[in-house]
Order: sequence, then C-alpha cells, then structure tokens
Amino acid sequence: MLEAEPTVEAGTHLAELLAAIDRFRQRPKTNRQPQELAAELKGIRHAGDLLELEFAETTAAFSKTEEYNEQGSVSPIDWIRHQCRMSTGAVWNSLAVGEHLDDLPRSVEAVESAEIGYAHLTLMARTAQSMQGSSTAAPFEEGGLLDKAREYSVGRLWYFCHHMRHATDPEEFAAEQSRATESRTLKMSTYEDGSLALEGWIDPVGGAVVRSALEPLAQPHGDHDERGREHRNADAFVEVCSHVQDIGVLPQRPHLQVTASLDTLRAVAGSPAGDMEYSLPVSAATVRRLACDGTITRVVLAPESVVIDVGRARRVVAGAMRRALNARDGHCKWPRCERPAYWSDAHHVVHWTDGGDTDLTNMILLCHRHHWMAHEGGWQLVRTAEGEVLAVPPRPPGLARVADAEDPVEAARQFAEQLRVARSLRTDWPPGDRIAADDGAWARVMEAHDAAVHQANQRSDLGDDAPDPAA
Ligand SMILES: [Zn+2]
Ligand SMILES: [Zn+2]
Repeated sequence: MLEAEPTVEAGTHLAELLAAIDRFRQRPKTNRQPQELAAELKGIRHAGDLLELEFAETTAAFSKTEEYNEQGSVSPIDWIRHQCRMSTGAVWNSLAVGEHLDDLPRSVEAVESAEIGYAHLTLMARTAQSMQGSSTAAPFEEGGLLDKAREYSVGRLWYFCHHMRHATDPEEFAAEQSRATESRTLKMSTYEDGSLALEGWIDPVGGAVVRSALEPLAQPHGDHDERGREHRNADAFVEVCSHVQDIGVLPQRPHLQVTASLDTLRAVAGSPAGDMEYSLPVSAATVRRLACDGTITRVVLAPESVVIDVGRARRVVAGAMRRALNARDGHCKWPRCERPAYWSDAHHVVHWTDGGDTDLTNMILLCHRHHWMAHEGGWQLVRTAEGEVLAVPPRPPGLARVADAEDPVEAARQFAEQLRVARSLRTDWPPGDRIAADDGAWARVMEAHDAAVHQANQRSDLGDDAPDPAA
C-alpha cells in the first residue's frame, strides 16, 4: 500500500505508477473466465518485464554513483540487495541488463513489444557481459541471439548461450570450467555422536558424475518408500561407498550421457560445447577427456545434427587391450602416482579423434585427477621409447605444444631441465606444485623454451615432408 512506502513522494512519476498499480489490483476479480485469466497472465507478465527494464536501467545508473557508500554499504550490489530485498543473483542480472542496454537495442525493443521475455534479455546481457570480459572472445553481436530468443524458451536459450560462448570463445569457456574445478571442496566433519556432516562444492562435470552414480540408487524403490528426496540421496551415497568397499571397485563406471558434435570432439574452433546429462554444457577439452577412454554413452552428431554414432557406454579400450595395458602400466603412469589400474582411465597420448591409434604405444593409464590434468588442466604428456612418462606443466595460452616440436621427447626433457632450473630460482615452489603463468621467472623459462621450439618449427617448415607429430 502507498502508506507503507514513505520514500515515495506524492506527485512524482513513481507515485503515479504505484497508484496505477493500486487501482489495477482493486479491479473486480470474481467470475473471471479461463481465457481472461490467460490474457491477464500474459499482460501482467509483460508489465512486469517493462518494469524490470526500468529497474535494470536504474540499477546501472545507481551503481555509477557513490550513494551506496554514503549510506554505509560496501557496494551498490549490496545496497540494492538489502534495500530492495533481492537475491544477489537477481541484482547481478539487473546490473548486467542495465549495463548492456546499448549492446542490445533490438532485443530491448523486442521485450517492449512482448516478442521476447525479460528473462531472455537477462541471459543475453549475461552473455554479452562474459564475452566482453574475455580477452579471447569475438565481439558480441545481438542479432543471432535475438533470433534464437524469439524462437526458444528461456531454458533452451540458456543452453544455447553456453554453446555460443563455447563456439566463439573456447579458451575462456574452458578456463571458466577449470576455475570451477579448482574450487572443488568436500568438507567432512564428524560430530560428537559420530554423525558425519558433509559440506561441499563440486564442479559441473564432477557433479554430473556424482549425480549419475547416485540418481539410479536414489529413486524411490519397493513398497512403502516414504523417504524424502534428501533422505534417499543420503542413502544412495552410503550405498555407493559401501558397495565400493564390498568389492573393491565400482561395479560399472557411471554412464555419462554426452552429446557432442564431431567438430567439438576434434576441438575445431567455432564448435559448440558438449551437452551432458545433469550438467551445464561442457568444454571441448572435457568432452575429449570423457571420450578418451570411452566410459561415456556417446551420441556423436554430425554438423547437420545427424546422429552418426550412438555409443553403448563401452570403453574404447576394452577386453584384451585393456588387460594388456593394465599389465604393462600397473597403475596411473603420472610421475610418482600409484593409483591402481582399475581406478584409472586409458589415456590416448594422441587422441583417437586426431588419428591416434588405440594401441599400447599410444596409451597410458591415468587416474581420474591426472586424466583431468592431461586434458582440461593443459598438461602435456610425452611417452619415451622406454615407457617413461614426462609431464610438462600448463603453458600460457597461444604458445606451442611440446607435441608440435620435432622431437617431443627431447623437447619435454629440455623443458623438464628448464623447469628444474626455474624451480631452483624460486625456493618457495614446493615440488609438484602448479606454477602461475604470470610468474616472472616462469616467463623467462617459457621464452627460452619457445625460442627452441620456434627454431625447431622453422627448420621443419622448410620441408613439406616434415614429420607430423600426431602421425
Ligand atoms: Zn585422455
Ligand atoms: Zn594419477
């Protein structure tokens, strides 16, 4: 009611708006027919969308002032969150829309004419925001997104935005997912009575693995199953863990449902992300890891969206081949890792989508963590003729890969030596730790290494018959 809003002065535009809303709310509501209700729903939603536009514009204007500070808040977002009684996410959405009105002029018109919803516009603004915040993204264009917004539901557009960002900015997309993985955590606290409290955060792909393992077990089963969803989750979690202990190994790797185009599998620039059950779209690097050992249900789509291969959740590396690999490697072959073979994936050093063979010379066992590091983590692995595996740390983007050097094994050895020298320059690097790419000493090591690789490449550029490292 107006009386409850002491901040609104009489005679202002805002007072007029509130008075109009008040009158609307007092309209007769008895005996409304279904068609009238339907029409009202659409009309009220549209009115709400228009107000959201106003709210977003005002949010952006307010965030440029110091008023939040004057009023003792730490940020404009925080002020709006408290004073307008909104969730943080909702405030960020309003700010994103407000700050990108100029990038989305046709889309704003489309909201005004009720062709698309404000919820569509929010997704488009968040996409513009993340693309403009990335140094590797293509310039943001509203046209393509607007066409999709007219056609798609909000949920479908949400997926499409992820795919578009992957197609136009795969580096940042993969980097975001890697950051999500780096924030993983699972805190276990045992209470006095012995109860275990779990508190955690798992990245999208890890989360999908957890969910696809728990979901089938967490369904209501048998007569008289009156457990709530969260009770069933807890039971499923305990069931999985006790089963692992019973037989020493999970009975079956989770069958992750991944749908990806061939271009995505081949990490072709401009390809969409992969779709994964229980997860947001995942980066090409992740699709390649999951497909590396084939412990997923693959549905591979040709560019024209024709399903050309529906995998049956069988391993790419199975049967005798896998047993031979287990026997040869025995455990994860990452330097100094001894996770047993049955907890490890068969990693293709040269990915099978790049023409790598599924034979022993091109495969090594890697545990879950190290398989991630080899794909999404940007580490490069080189297998020497003697079977020794050299792990080369992630490189700043845009620099050559060891695999592109004329002699990858020699390049990796040199690299390892340079790394040893770099480490000796920095005594505060504990062995085995990640090194920040922007570290000064690191940059010097990289420069030396890149000069060597560049020289090698120039030599090999001279002849057409240069050896293909992927061959
Ligand atoms: Zn792999
Ligand atoms: Zn390992």
